[in-house]
Amino acid sequence: MSSTSTPDLARATLGVPRLLTGHGPGYGEHLRALGPLPQRAGLVDEIARSGLTGRGGAAFPTSTKLAAMAPRGVVIGNGSEGEPLSAKDELLLHNRPHLVIDGLLATAHALAARRLHLVVGAASEEPVRRALRERGDADAIEVTVAPDRFVGGEASAVVDLLATGRGLPKDHAVRLTTRGLRGRSTLVQNVETLAHIGLIARVGGERWGAVGVPEDRGTRLFSISGDVAHPGVIEAPGGSSLRSLIAPSSPQPVSAVLVGGYHGAWVGRDALERTVGASSKHGAIPAGAGILVVLGDRSCGLRTAAEIAAYLAAESAGQCGPCVNGLPALADLVSRVADGDRDPRLPAQVERMAGLVEGRGACHHPDGTAKMVRSALVAFADDVAAHQHGFCRAAR
Ligand code: SF4
Repeated sequence: MSSTSTPDLARATLGVPRLLTGHGPGYGEHLRALGPLPQRAGLVDEIARSGLTGRGGAAFPTSTKLAAMAPRGVVIGNGSEGEPLSAKDELLLHNRPHLVIDGLLATAHALAARRLHLVVGAASEEPVRRALRERGDADAIEVTVAPDRFVGGEASAVVDLLATGRGLPKDHAVRLTTRGLRGRSTLVQNVETLAHIGLIARVGGERWGAVGVPEDRGTRLFSISGDVAHPGVIEAPGGSSLRSLIAPSSPQPVSAVLVGGYHGAWVGRDALERTVGASSKHGAIPAGAGILVVLGDRSCGLRTAAEIAAYLAAESAGQCGPCVNGLPALADLVSRVADGDRDPRLPAQVERMAGLVEGRGACHHPDGTAKMVRSALVAFADDVAAHQHGFCRAAR
């Protein structure tokens, strides 16, 4: 577990501070700490050897995405971070902008890409532009500010932002690596993933992948919030248990944790010894974009889930009927459960509505919302029963 602010090549860590306290090292200091970015031959093979998976949420093997790219394509670093509870990408862009830029340049070089973009949140624009001005090798990178919208961070929305200025998700019938920005083969890679590529370019895939566990290599950034004394970002090796991840934040007695953010899943305190990893293989809880929201035993999980569902319903991009009409209906049903509506049919109606919206959107927004709601019904099953009897545990 690390919240130091020094990158460490020997341990292959990004070394970001827990909180956003200013800017990280300038380019000169970055070079003194890590050395110049090598033009490593066979970087794609090194990334395959490392076992790196995407840190933006989908946990797709990075080397598989790279292998699908055609030459002379487009590489986009995605730091748009539409998820309100994620803090890691902004922290990285403020404190390790040169490592992200290294990763973008190394990836573009390995793919013989022609166009390079960095899409960032408004708060990260200034530090990123300053970092780019400090170096002489990054003139080709175009910076674009993403709208502050939940679905704006989705890969097809990022491509749409660059193509049209709107930033709306599109249907996934054709992969972006096949036909993306202006018809070109396009790679959209989360900025944390790029920062790890900046490390792999220096230390090689084997050494980078020696950190963590075989099923989840390297380190990962986690944004921790909720009922904790010390919210912030930590860096932890693959294979870490949920309990070890939240412990440094001094949580209140834990009732549940939302793992993966608003499109993630609620798990109860009985899951604290499980690992949080790239995927559910080997019993891990999927990390998603590395967001952990701790719920203390004095908070009502159903109320929290209802508020998140209402937020997600309002964040629909307004393009697909099941999403536009179904998510508000789903959020309304969850809200009735949280409010203590004693209609015994309500839990089944929530399930049914979740099933109706799932798989019916051009993007995964309805699926992610349904997943969060369903997991709440399971994690807070005792609370659902209590609310049906006119009682709320958190109101004691
Ligand atoms: S599913 Fe919802 S968020 Fe996704 S594209 Fe359709 S309307 Fe937009």
